[in-house]
Amino acid sequence: MPGFEFFGDQERAQVDDVLQSGVLMRYGFDGRRNNHWKAMELEKALEQRMQVKHAQLVSSGTAALTVALASAGIGAGDEVIMPTFTFVASFESIIALGAVPILVDVDDTLTLCPKAVEAAINERTKVVMPVHMCGSMADLKVLLEICKKHNLLLLEDACQAIGGSFEGKPLGSYGDLGCFSFDYVKTITCGEGGAIISNNDQYKINADHYSDHGHDHVGKDRGAETHPFLGYNFRISELNAAVGLAQINRLDEFINIQKVNYTILRNALEEIPEVSFRRVPNGGVESYAFMSFFLPDEATAKKVHQALGNGGVDACFYWFDNNWHYYRKWEHLTNLKSLGKLPAELKNQLPDYTKSDFSQSDHWISKTISCLIKLGWSEAEVQQRAQKMAEIIKSTI
Ligand SMILES: *Cc1c(COP(=O)(O)O)cnc(C)c1O
Repeated sequence: MPGFEFFGDQERAQVDDVLQSGVLMRYGFDGRRNNHWKAMELEKALEQRMQVKHAQLVSSGTAALTVALASAGIGAGDEVIMPTFTFVASFESIIALGAVPILVDVDDTLTLCPKAVEAAINERTKVVMPVHMCGSMADLKVLLEICKKHNLLLLEDACQAIGGSFEGKPLGSYGDLGCFSFDYVKTITCGEGGAIISNNDQYKINADHYSDHGHDHVGKDRGAETHPFLGYNFRISELNAAVGLAQINRLDEFINIQKVNYTILRNALEEIPEVSFRRVPNGGVESYAFMSFFLPDEATAKKVHQALGNGGVDACFYWFDNNWHYYRKWEHLTNLKSLGKLPAELKNQLPDYTKSDFSQSDHWISKTISCLIKLGWSEAEVQQRAQKMAEIIKSTI
């Protein structure tokens, strides 16, 4: 997945453009900036690549989720359905707005289980937020039907699956809103950055204003602009956007490399009868950022994960015990450990997650191992890795 592997002449040239003028801010300073608008250009490039009307760049993927929710009017007491397997940013963004994260089970896609989503809907539910973890997607067709039936928004977190698609549409563009992260370990990077995409004119206006203190961005004098509503600062800098502008042009090149490397590893593991693979919903094409597979049970998965590490096969993750990506270690959420007082709606409505039954999630995640697909491997290195993985797995199970 990591775009950080490739920082080259194209990235340097884009950053140099910005350094020449010294205008590091995305807004204003028209006379001094030599007509360089890196953030705006990256938004245009994203709109084109993702086949949507609007893109809004922000300072991170977490900011993208927060601004996306805010742009759709989500606030105190609104409930947002999210998966048990994701990054902590999912509930951080929801809580930042005073809204309530409602965790539900994942299935063999390693993403939101549509049945569990439907069971969690009540009159306070406003958003369903699937997270396309590790390069593959939720069953967006079924989730969209559920959202239409209950009048809910579908917000795709595509931070780990940029470049994948569903029914021919780029991931992130299928729902009402989609979010990307360009942090340093994502498929393409800005250093730090994120984006929201949508086809909704009002969400774009809201996201544009909200991410810059509510500035209406009318006219050429920032100080004279009005502020139609409260906002915050989630701006990206021109330096970060410049790196992303070089990287977006390489997205398809990166996805192709990931696919080649993934396929070599997968072919080697397909031959092991005890190994099976996550389900990709009909109509989905992965971004191949990771290869995720199931072992027969938790004990075997733990043993295999340990053996892979000992055998020098790096960058393989066992999410079941992970501090950041699985609900079992989110005791700061469960116990609402915050620095200051939290909104009453959140305290009153947050389910008691110590009493929740997420055994369906545990069933799948406890036997899952995900291996990061790197871009910089030579073909010989991938072949060697594939052989080694297969040998280690066979001798461990
Ligand atoms: C990385 C990531 C985020 C947050 O992105 P940042 O840019 O690091 O804030 C959100 N969701 C998922 C699934 C991620 O992997």
